[in-house]
Amino acid sequence: MTAQATQQRDLTVVIGLEVHVQLETDTKVFCGCSTDLADADPNTHTCPTCLGLPGALPVLNEAAVESAVKLGKAIDAEIPQQTRFHRKNYYYPDLPKDFQITQYDAPICQDGRLEIGVEGERREIGIERAHLEEDPGSLQHAGGNIETAEHTLVNYNRAGVPLMEIVTEPDFRSPKETRAFLAKLEEVLEYLGVFDSTRDGSLRIDANISLVPGEEVEESGAIGAATLAAANRTEVKNISSHKGAEKALAYEVTRQRNARRRGREIEQETRHWDESRGITVSMRSKEDEKDYRYFPEADLPVLKVADWTESIDIPELPEARRERFREEYGLDAEAASKLTSTKQVADFYEDVASDFDPGLAATWVADDLLGELNYRDMRIADIEGRLDDVRRLIELVDEGLITAKNAREVVLREMLDSRTDPDAVVESEGLGKTDDEAVAAAVEEAIEENPEAVADVEAGDDGAINFLVGQVMGKTGGSADPGRVNQLLRERL
Ligand SMILES: [Zn+2]
Repeated sequence: MTAQATQQRDLTVVIGLEVHVQLETDTKVFCGCSTDLADADPNTHTCPTCLGLPGALPVLNEAAVESAVKLGKAIDAEIPQQTRFHRKNYYYPDLPKDFQITQYDAPICQDGRLEIGVEGERREIGIERAHLEEDPGSLQHAGGNIETAEHTLVNYNRAGVPLMEIVTEPDFRSPKETRAFLAKLEEVLEYLGVFDSTRDGSLRIDANISLVPGEEVEESGAIGAATLAAANRTEVKNISSHKGAEKALAYEVTRQRNARRRGREIEQETRHWDESRGITVSMRSKEDEKDYRYFPEADLPVLKVADWTESIDIPELPEARRERFREEYGLDAEAASKLTSTKQVADFYEDVASDFDPGLAATWVADDLLGELNYRDMRIADIEGRLDDVRRLIELVDEGLITAKNAREVVLREMLDSRTDPDAVVESEGLGKTDDEAVAAAVEEAIEENPEAVADVEAGDDGAINFLVGQVMGKTGGSADPGRVNQLLRERL
C-alpha cells in the first residue's frame, strides 16, 4: 500500500450542523402579525414592526420563549437565569431593518445533547447552543434564479417569524449520522408541539465539514480544538431535508477526498448545495463574525426566564414513550416504534387501547390505519376530526358485527376515500354479519334446492356437505360464518 493510499484511508470525517427550525406560534416573534402564511398574498402579513418602519418597537412573543424553553428541556440544555437579544447587522433586501434580532453571547439554551442510534450504535451529539431569532423576508427571482432573473420581488410575510437556530458540536463522524440526528430532532420538536415538518421551509440546515488525519483523533474519538482549527473546513448551505443533508455531505466527503488525492489544498469556503444537480458549488467566501458588528438590542429588556422555566412542562418524549408502550401494552419493538412515530399517533393509540384489547388496537392503528394512510400519502393529522369513526370501526370488529377482513379491506378504505362513516359503509355494502335466522333460512333453501347432495350426505359422503356449505355461503353473500353453517347443516340432516 502506498503512503498516499494509507493517508486516504485514515481521514476522519468531522461534521457540525447549524439547524434553523421554525417555531409554531400563532403570531410573529416581535409583533402581532399572523404566521399563517400558507395562502397569503405577498406582503399582507406585515406591520410597522416587521417592516422595520421608524419608531416601531418589538415586543417579545411569550409563546416563542416557551417553545424555546421546551426545546432546551428536551435536549437537556442549561437555561440561564437571564438571556438577552442582539442586533446582527448586515444589508440584504429581505431584511428591512438592516439588522436581524438574534441572540449572541447569552443564548436561551446552552450545552445540551441528543442521543442518536445509527446501525445499532448509540451516539451522543453535543449541542453547543440553541438561540431564538427572527426570520428575514423572502426574495422571489422572477423568471429564473438570482443570476438569470429579469427582476426580483420581495415578500416580507416571513419577516419576523420565530426561528430557533440549533448549533451542534462537531460530533458527527459520517453523513448518515447527520440524517439520523435531524430525524430525531424533528421527532422531538413535533412531540413538544413547537414544530410542523409539513410547513414549507420549516427546516433549514447549514453544515461544516472537514477531513482530519486519523492519527490526530484521540482514542476516545475526541478531536482537539487545535486539530479542528488547523483543518480547513467548508460550510455547505441551502440544505432543506434529512435526505438532502446526507447527500450533500456525502458529495462533499468525496470531493474533499479527491482533491487531497490530487494533492490539492482544501479551501476554507462556503458552498451552496444544488439539490437538483446533486452537487455543491463554491459561493462567496464566508463573512467573519466581527463583520456583523453584533451589539445589544436596546429596544428589548433583558429577559429573565429563571422562575418561568420551572412552570413550563414538556410531554413524555418519543424514546421514553416507546419504552413504556413495550412494557405497558406488551408490544414488540416494531409496533412500539410505529405507534410512537408522532405524538398524535401515540395519543390515538392510547385512547383506543384504553377501550379495547391493546393488541387489537395495535394491529388496527399501526398496521391497518397507518398502512392505508401511508398508501394515500396522508397523516393522522389529516383525519383528525374523523378519529371517532375509526374507533367505531374497531368497535364493530370487536363486537363481531363485521369480519376483520371486511373492516380492513372494504370499510376502512371506503371511509378514507369517500369520507363516509363506517356504519353507512357496512349498510351500503351489505357487510353486516348475517344473523342466525337468515343463515337458518339459507340452510333450508340449500337443502330444498339440492336433493341429490342431501342424499349423498345422508349416504355418508362428507364431501357433499362442503358443497352445501358453499351454497349457503353464496346465498348469504359470504357474510355467514362457514363453521356455523356446517354445524347447522349437520344438525338438520
Ligand atoms: Zn408585523
